[in-house]
Amino acid sequence: MRLINTYLDRFVYTDELPFDARVLNMVFLVGVISTSISFFFHIIEQSNPFILGLKAVMIISLVLLIIISNRYSFHEQGKWLALISFCFVLFPLIFFQNGGMQSGISAYFVLCMGIIFLLTKGRTRTILLVLFILVTCVCYYVDIRYPNYIYHLTSYQQYADSLGSYLIAGFFLGPVSVMLSKMYLVEKEKAAEASRAKGDFLAQMSHEMRTPMNAIIGMVNIAKSASNLEEQRSYMGTIEDASNHLLGVINDILDMSKIEAGKLELISEPFVFADMMTSVIAIQRFRSDEKLQHVQLRLDPTIPHLLNGDRQHLAQIIANLLSNAVKFTPNEGTITIEAVPILEMDGVCTLQIKVSDTGIGITEEQQSRLFGSFEQANNSTSREYGGTGLGLAISKRIAEAMGGDITIESTPGEGSCFTATIPLRIASKEAVRDKEERAIPTNDITGLFAGRTALLVDDVAINRDIAEALLAPTGLAVVHAKNGQDAIEKFTARPQDFDLILMDIQMPGMDGYEATRRIRARRELNAMLIPIIAMTANVFKEDIEKSLASGMNAHLGKPLNPDEMIQVLGQYLR
Ligand code: ADP
Repeated sequence: MRLINTYLDRFVYTDELPFDARVLNMVFLVGVISTSISFFFHIIEQSNPFILGLKAVMIISLVLLIIISNRYSFHEQGKWLALISFCFVLFPLIFFQNGGMQSGISAYFVLCMGIIFLLTKGRTRTILLVLFILVTCVCYYVDIRYPNYIYHLTSYQQYADSLGSYLIAGFFLGPVSVMLSKMYLVEKEKAAEASRAKGDFLAQMSHEMRTPMNAIIGMVNIAKSASNLEEQRSYMGTIEDASNHLLGVINDILDMSKIEAGKLELISEPFVFADMMTSVIAIQRFRSDEKLQHVQLRLDPTIPHLLNGDRQHLAQIIANLLSNAVKFTPNEGTITIEAVPILEMDGVCTLQIKVSDTGIGITEEQQSRLFGSFEQANNSTSREYGGTGLGLAISKRIAEAMGGDITIESTPGEGSCFTATIPLRIASKEAVRDKEERAIPTNDITGLFAGRTALLVDDVAINRDIAEALLAPTGLAVVHAKNGQDAIEKFTARPQDFDLILMDIQMPGMDGYEATRRIRARRELNAMLIPIIAMTANVFKEDIEKSLASGMNAHLGKPLNPDEMIQVLGQYLR
C-alpha cells in the first residue's frame, strides 16, 4: 500500500507532469494491480498455462511502460498505446478469457470509457467512443450466440474477478476525480489571480493618469493667475513635464496592447549606435543629476559605427532599463551602461548591452514575475516609485521581436544588472549619407517656409492653433478649415494659392479620408499634385496605410513633434 501511495504522489497527484501523463500513470497502475489480482486467482484455480502466460506478459509489459513513459517522456506516444491496447486489445481479451458477461467486465468498460474521455478531445473522442461501444456490442453478441468461444470461469474465479475489477474501477475513478477537482481549483485560482492583476492594473493606471492630469489642471489654474512671465514659465515647465509623463503612460498602454495584438512593427534604418546611446543617456541625465548619481557609459570600440535596425525601439528598451536603474538606485549610486559586440557573423553584429546599478535589487521570486505584463516587483514599489509595471514587459517583447532577449541578475540590497542581447545588421556608409542628405537642420527654422501657404484642416480649434504656433517661426502662412467640407470649399475657391494641406482624419461631417479623395478627384492640376499630410492621433500602421491609400502623401502623429513636423513638411515645401 505504501508503494502505491508513493507512486500516486510522484506520478499522479503532481503538478509537475501534464494531465495526460498523470491519467496515463493512473491507467498503468490500475492495469498492473488488476492483472496481478486476476493472475493470483488464476494460479489458485490452476487455470490453463496460456492464460497464465498472457497475464504474466501483461504485468511485465505494463511495469515496463510505467518505467519507460516516466523516464523518457513517452507520454504523448504512450497515450495512444494505452488507449488502443486497453480499449481495443485488452478489453476483448479480458472479455473472452475471463468469462464474458459473467466476469467483472463492466468495470473494465467504465475504465476504458474513462481513458477515452480523459485522454482525447472533440471528434477523436466521439470516433473512439463509438468504436469502443461497437467492440463491446460485438463481444456481447459473441457471448450470447457463440458461448463456446468464451473461457468460462469457475464460480469462485468469477466472484473474485468481479470483486477485483470493481475495486479497480473505483480505484481508477477515485484518484482521477481528485486530480480533476484539484486541476479545477488551480484553474479557478489562476483566473482569479489574472482578474486581480487586471484590477490592480486598472487602479494603478487610473492613479498614474490622474496624477499628472491633476498637476496639469492645477498648474494651469495657478499659471492663469501668475503675475509675471517668469513665474508663468516655471509653471509651464511643470505642465510640460506632467504632460510628457502622461503621454509616456498612454504610450506604454498602447504599446502593450499593440504587442499583445501581435501588431508590433519594426522598421530597419541605418543609425549611429553611439549617438543613439548618448541621446538616451542625455534624456535621463537631468533625473540622474538630481539624484547625484554617477552614470558611466562604456562602449566597446569594436562596435560597428553604423548599424541597421529599429533605432527608436532599441532606444525605448535602453531608456526603459536606464530609467528603472535611475529610479531604483538611491542618491549618489552608480549606474553603468556597457555595450560590447559578442558575435559578428554574415553582416550581423550581436550586441550585449548591460545596464547595471547599485540600487535596491530584486529578489529571485520577484525576478520571475518582472517581465509579465502589469507586474511590478511588489505593490509597495508602485506606491513608492510610481510606474505602470509595463516597461520591462514591453522591452522584453520588443527585444524578442528583434531576435534578441533581456535577462536579469540581481542581489537584493546590492543592485541589479539587466542584459539586452540584440542582433543588428551592420549598415553601409552610403545608406546613412543618403539619410543625412535628406534631413533638414532644425536648429534654425526662421523663415524656412516663408512665402508658402498651407491649408490647416482640424475640427478642434486648439489643435489648429497649436499647429499654427509651432509653424509660425518658419514663416508659413496658414488658412484654417474646420472639417472636410470646409477644406474642399476653401481649396476649390483658390486652388493655386495653396502649397500644402495638413489634414486631420477624424472630424464630424466629412472626415479627412473622404476630403482627400474628393480633392484628388478634382480636375485642377494642383488638386492632384498638392501634398496632403495627415495630422492625426490615429497612429497605427493601418491608419497610416489608410491615409496613404486615400491619396495622402505622408503622416504626422499627434501630439505633434515639432522637429518631425518640420522634417516632413520640409520634404514637400523645399
Ligand atoms: P515600471 O514602469 O513600474 O517601472 P517596469 O516593468 O519597468 O515597470 O518595472 C517593473 C518593476 O521591476 C518595477 O516596479 C520594480 O519593482 C522592478 N525593477 C525594474 N528595474 C529595477 C531595478 N533596476 N532595480 C530594482 N527594481 C527594478
